[in-house]
Amino acid sequence: MIEKVTIQLKGSPPIEVPCQGLNGADALKALGIDNADRLVAVKVNGEIKDLSVAISSPAELEPVSVDSPEGIQILRHSASHVMAEAVRELFPGVKVTIGPAIKDGFYYDFDYERPFDDKDLPEIESKMAELIDKDLPFVRSEISRQEAIELFRSQGEPYKVELLEELTDETVSLYKQGNFTDLCRGPHVPSTGKIAAFHLTNVAGAYWRGDERNRMLSRIYGVAFADKESLDTHLKNLEEAKKRDHRRLGRELDLFSIQEDIGSGLILWHPKGGMIRTIIEDFWRKEHYKAGYELVYSPHIGKAELWQTSGHLGFYQENMYSPIDIEGQKYFIKPMNCPFHIMIYRSRIRSYRELPLRWAELGTVYRYERSGVMHGLLRVRGFTQDDAHIFCRPDQIEDEILGCLDLTLHLLRSFGFHDYEIMLSVRDPKRKEKYIGGDDIWEMAEGSLVKALERRELSYEREEGEAVFYGPKIDVKIKDALGRAWQCTTIQFDFNEPERFDMTFMGSDGLEHRPYMVHRAILGSLERFFGILIEHYAGAFPVWLAPVQAIILTITDRHIPYGKELYEGLSNAEVRTECDFRNEKLGFKVREAQTRKIPYMLVIGDKEVDGHAVTVRLRDGINLAPMSPEELIIRIRHESEHRR
Ligand SMILES: [Zn+2]
Ligand SMILES: [Zn+2]
Repeated sequence: MIEKVTIQLKGSPPIEVPCQGLNGADALKALGIDNADRLVAVKVNGEIKDLSVAISSPAELEPVSVDSPEGIQILRHSASHVMAEAVRELFPGVKVTIGPAIKDGFYYDFDYERPFDDKDLPEIESKMAELIDKDLPFVRSEISRQEAIELFRSQGEPYKVELLEELTDETVSLYKQGNFTDLCRGPHVPSTGKIAAFHLTNVAGAYWRGDERNRMLSRIYGVAFADKESLDTHLKNLEEAKKRDHRRLGRELDLFSIQEDIGSGLILWHPKGGMIRTIIEDFWRKEHYKAGYELVYSPHIGKAELWQTSGHLGFYQENMYSPIDIEGQKYFIKPMNCPFHIMIYRSRIRSYRELPLRWAELGTVYRYERSGVMHGLLRVRGFTQDDAHIFCRPDQIEDEILGCLDLTLHLLRSFGFHDYEIMLSVRDPKRKEKYIGGDDIWEMAEGSLVKALERRELSYEREEGEAVFYGPKIDVKIKDALGRAWQCTTIQFDFNEPERFDMTFMGSDGLEHRPYMVHRAILGSLERFFGILIEHYAGAFPVWLAPVQAIILTITDRHIPYGKELYEGLSNAEVRTECDFRNEKLGFKVREAQTRKIPYMLVIGDKEVDGHAVTVRLRDGINLAPMSPEELIIRIRHESEHRR
């Protein structure tokens, strides 16, 4: 009698099939899954396994295709095994360590007599291509840990031995493809031929186990994708991202600098960057006043007691700098503005009639970031938040949250961001004890966030258990021109601070009540937002943000008087204008202005002087028909007003 086993696809009726020699791939086929060439693994009762896994007991199966997030990670990890095999064949004596999948790709750390460098990559790549061409199967086996130790010792692989000695498992799994055996839990793609598109990107030093007391290894990075097309798109985006790198453009356009003599993560805004920041700040202030906010200012340091009361010395101290001593008192540099705004609130008794209060501040804060994680303008130690706190009554919550969201959308759209990823972080309903505040206020707060998102028809992801202990929040990521997502906006309830500072207002009933408090930052930080803007526009800022909107280029010296007259006219009309009256070839001046990404180049020659006109060349090379200076002013004004 043939033995049978019951299998089923998740959510479909079960079937019975002979279980003799049945593996994951056969089982999926029996269940009618026919896109075999896209399959890389199978989930058996929820656990991800190789396609070759034996199916001998009743199982609920799910195919894992290379197009799924899990599937592509399996492919990337499998590519790291192939790289290890290639490196071992090419560089006898090399010792292998570990090779995980990472975002977009994989790496493997090697210990060799010399560090690898980028020049080694083409050779390794072609060896990998050879191994992939052979379509070698990944074969899993299980042996005792002791046997594995002996095996790797005999192969001269001390790192593997070290890893094995730390394991407590009786048996371990090995994977072999071609001539290479690795210690690994799996799963992997069925054979090397599945790795259709990969590229090795770079080499970096990395300490064994990330510990600087250990040996420095060579980490080789690669990227891998399900098909050639995706790889090409990725590599093109990488190229484009390099061109747009805000650190490079910041230098080329003279916008900002970070100097070791000052300290890492501390930003110097140069005049051109300062001009853009001023435009952003002026716009920000104007829109906040329009939205019913008031502006406040607060100091950069405050006494230890303040941070004790706020709780920052408890839950936030690792991000704060050591205190300074002033007349025997400890003061901390502020990592946040909140306690100051709360102290303004507490400076007198508040009545229900004056709520809501919306207080905004471009508040510069300092947070401790480890030196390794700093990155241009994106990760810094000193930055200016576009911060605000809203204090309101329970009956005002919905309107206030909607108001926050509307101002957020208005500001982000004004800067050219129209695509968002929105996250709603709520309580874990099963672990309510983790959070401060009762069911009633949490439900009301979460409800107001959901309502606001729904009223503006924004799609969002609801993440249970992602709320911080003191309140639910909305986070908004903006998508830039390359489709990359950047976290900017946070709208965050706080049930903690009003308690800690015993904030109250007198209600219409003559009794004291606790106000609701909301923290929110829309752009996030001006430094980071500036970095994102630079990359989004590749330095070619729209006219309203461009530090120099127009540059006057004379052809010869006899055009200078008219050039000066033109300059006066434009400057008086508040068009940000520069002159290039140098005795240089026009082509040279145009190229330079183009490199500086100035929107309008105004070429002045005999024709323009005689006709009292300007010939306009745009930074993308397009020439406009000659126009009068007045027409040009109207055009630039119109663009500025509409934030183009
Ligand atoms: Zn593996
Ligand atoms: Zn705050």
